[in-house]
Amino acid sequence: MATMLLLTFLISSLIMVTVGLAIDSMEILLLGIGGQLSVDTSDVEMASLDFGLLTRGQPLAVLHPVSAQDIARVVKEAYGSNQGMTVSARGHGHSINGQAQTTNGVVIQMSGWKGGNKPPRPRVWAEERYVDVWGGELWIDVLKSTLEYGLAPKSWTDYLYLSVGGTLSNAGISGQAFNHGPQISNVYELDVVTGKGEVLTCSEDENTELFHAVLGGLGQFGIITRARISLEPAPKMVRWIRVLYSNFSAFTSDQEHLISLHAEPSNQKFDYVEGFVIVDEGLINNWRSSFFSPQNPVKISTLFPTGGALYCLEIAKNYHESTAQTIDQEVEFLLKKLNFISTSVFTTDLLYVDFLDRVHKAELKLRSKGLWEVPHPWLNLFIPSSKIAEFDKGIFKGILGNKTSGPILIYPMNKNKWDHRSSVVTPDEGVFYLVALLRSALDNGEETQSLEYLNNQNRQILRYCDEAGIKVKRYLPHYTTQQEWMDHFGNKWDRFYEMKMEFDPRHILASGQRIFTPTFPSLSNMPS
Ligand code: FAD
Repeated sequence: MATMLLLTFLISSLIMVTVGLAIDSMEILLLGIGGQLSVDTSDVEMASLDFGLLTRGQPLAVLHPVSAQDIARVVKEAYGSNQGMTVSARGHGHSINGQAQTTNGVVIQMSGWKGGNKPPRPRVWAEERYVDVWGGELWIDVLKSTLEYGLAPKSWTDYLYLSVGGTLSNAGISGQAFNHGPQISNVYELDVVTGKGEVLTCSEDENTELFHAVLGGLGQFGIITRARISLEPAPKMVRWIRVLYSNFSAFTSDQEHLISLHAEPSNQKFDYVEGFVIVDEGLINNWRSSFFSPQNPVKISTLFPTGGALYCLEIAKNYHESTAQTIDQEVEFLLKKLNFISTSVFTTDLLYVDFLDRVHKAELKLRSKGLWEVPHPWLNLFIPSSKIAEFDKGIFKGILGNKTSGPILIYPMNKNKWDHRSSVVTPDEGVFYLVALLRSALDNGEETQSLEYLNNQNRQILRYCDEAGIKVKRYLPHYTTQQEWMDHFGNKWDRFYEMKMEFDPRHILASGQRIFTPTFPSLSNMPS
């Protein structure tokens, strides 16, 4: 009875949005699915929204798959039909601009599960030092599973409640990227359901083109159902250090010096290098960093240069019981070469797992104040190192003023740690920076915190870069026309297009990225 109701609802929904629907094919599709297909309001509502809260795209149904085969059945049906059905994988829905949404089809809810069956649990291969994980697994759960074997992935994101498939579709970066490369540089093998509904294993040696295309591929070539991720022995503890600068060029010189040490032995470099800009100290601006504790010896406000910003270098060194004796000397040796404000050293020691999971604590704090589920007009940019000083002058000391409405991260990475064969695009220089403007819009009557104000400011920032000849590449990109996408990919576009034609020729997958329009003739209301 429930299945019949579900069928009737879904089919009538499809009739409303498509022309000439072949009902039979939908029936086959639905009857053949092992995972749970749902049209529950709560499922559909969740899949209609994302962390950005900027766009809404309501799917017709949501599939909770437990295997690659569940997904393949849906994709095959969509591929074979003429009805314009699209399929979008959704990890944890932490996109900003509707990238995991679709209005004409099914959202495959990769993270979490419903009902009795579950997707496969992480499988750790301790001797080989890798783990096989379901594409919807959250990184926090990957960490917990591998720690049982004293192992952990090498490259992270700052926040762990993101799915493996979601971050591998972008790059996955954090303070370890200078050393280990982004998360996409730390994957050995993938299982992927292509846009034709084939389930393919791919790696450096097998289906190589698909492997590289999918990594950083914005979900365009296939749905990742399994990833084999490289592991290392997990450190026990972390010494987490923050030091301040009022001089931007001293700050960036030190950051670049620290990432240049990537090839040194581990006792002669930090394991994590990030940084952020401090313009003011409110909770919303600083949610990533409750670290400057009340017992700080220095009041940060006394260090602010007039009309300027402060820059905080954030570094960390991992250690184990066996290296606990030498950690003080190693850190002291590295700090001695840096030019920060000498009275501004903030240090804390904590468990490795607590360090990696640090942003979740901030999330809980913001949630408790109603400041998490608000619109997030985030802007993430990769900036060539040669232009970062100009960016500082024009943006941090210019356009932004002294109100930021969220953390602003800034840290450099080594391009040689990124595989040029992946789909992701980065600036054409050996070192480039991530600048992440992670801002929240609040409806509190303050103009500078409104969504409209922040959106305008984002446009101003991009215009400034364009006019100043700063060749930025957007990370977690979002565009609305194919020409903009072609400009974004530059000389990678032809390849990207070729791969799309090979692996998702009908443009079924991840239409929420708005790169390609599905090619079904009966479609009239897909994003262009
Ligand atoms: P979703 O938003 O669900 O999906 C993103 C895209 O990937 C969609 O196009 C979707 O169709 C596709 N996709 C999802 N799953 C799969 C799959 N299995 N196979 C193929 N395609 C798939 N990023 C960083 O690199 N570093 C950070 O430190 C970082 N911190 C963040 C902190 C917060 C609080 C938030 C909200 C985001 C952060 N991000 C960071 C960005 C994040 O990596 C991306 O938004 C990522 O896409 C989110 O993963 P998700 O599982 O929520 O993906």
